[in-house]
Amino acid sequence: MAERFIPYGRQDIDEDDIAAVDAVLRSDWLTQGPAIERFEAAVAAAANARYAVAVSSATAGLHIACLALGIGPGDRVWTVPNTFVASANCARYCGAMVDFVDIDPATYNLSISALAEKLAVAEKTGELPKLLIPVHFAGQSCDMAAIAQLAERYGFTVLEDAAHAVGASYGGEPVGNCRYSRAAVFSFHPVKIVTTGEGGVVVTQDEDVYRRLLLLRSHGITRDPALMHGKPDGAWSYEQVELGFHYRMTDLQAALGASQMSKLPRFVARRRALVARYNELLGGSGLVLPAVLPQTEPSWHLYVVQTPDPAQRRPLFDAMRAAGIGVNVHYIPVHTQPDFQHLGFRPGQFPVAEAYYSRAISLPLHTRLEDHDLAFVADNLLNHLSNNASKG
Ligand SMILES: *Cc1c(COP(=O)(O)O)cnc(C)c1O
Repeated sequence: MAERFIPYGRQDIDEDDIAAVDAVLRSDWLTQGPAIERFEAAVAAAANARYAVAVSSATAGLHIACLALGIGPGDRVWTVPNTFVASANCARYCGAMVDFVDIDPATYNLSISALAEKLAVAEKTGELPKLLIPVHFAGQSCDMAAIAQLAERYGFTVLEDAAHAVGASYGGEPVGNCRYSRAAVFSFHPVKIVTTGEGGVVVTQDEDVYRRLLLLRSHGITRDPALMHGKPDGAWSYEQVELGFHYRMTDLQAALGASQMSKLPRFVARRRALVARYNELLGGSGLVLPAVLPQTEPSWHLYVVQTPDPAQRRPLFDAMRAAGIGVNVHYIPVHTQPDFQHLGFRPGQFPVAEAYYSRAISLPLHTRLEDHDLAFVADNLLNHLSNNASKG
């Protein structure tokens, strides 16, 4: 057994982060206090968005963003199969019908040509989507300008699943500024770029969407007399004006998040440097390395390589795990999950995502990795590949 284990992702917490949480514990507000607004302001500033709403997870954020964008029973929502299940489940929570668009074989993001083809067919059959949820896989933005053109032509709304992409940019502007979408959702799970333990933030430029998100985050309850149906009985009055949820974040989490957000530029710079180093180390290996569109600057949540042959993936994965290297696989195509098979999806429907999945392996990538850790990962990988080639 290896004496140490290098995880594929992990949080990077300093003493000042701990002090920020400690200060909340000593304060009057453990929840619904001032740390929430500080964190929201930090995320809004980084994303260059007017509004930010902190919630208990990105999954919760995707759910109430779908609702705030008017998604309900019978609506069609499209996303990609190469994502975490939450990107599709959010639509199902609203009673909508989910469908998928295959990915681009180079970037592993939503394929613009597959989207255009599917839309052309859907227009003929009267099955156009109301909402598209592109996912910025590994922290690389999708081609949002191309998506926005199609959204204009076919009349659907765009919600960005930016769970991987806080700190990324597209066309020289931060992901989350919603130039090409109505809203975007970031995740603050510990393996993501910045953490709050569990948490998510929805960003938008749209005041109406913002107001609905605030209501839906907290039971559909308002204390704002302007939003109430009746006259308040007194200062204690509140009204539930629609069916909302309890999706609030605590001030402990928000204080951690605000402290972490001050490190976002450093975290992203470090991830970019680590990816550049991986690309150098693995350049001649025969592995397929990530491709980046010229207009994108990824935040690099994940570093995924593909084995030339699917048969090589499992042995490589097992050998790396045995060496104490926490490789992982992102993602099992969502439509192949049993609970999506129940909806009628079948393997073979999204061949690019399935072929990608059969060869993909995520190498460790987080800000606590040192250059010698990367060398260790690369050595193990290259040795395994050359040993198996000679056996082969
Ligand atoms: C992590 C993740 C989510 C969900 O984030 P949580 O904060 O864990 O709810 C959604 N979409 C993608 C693509 C993710 O990677």
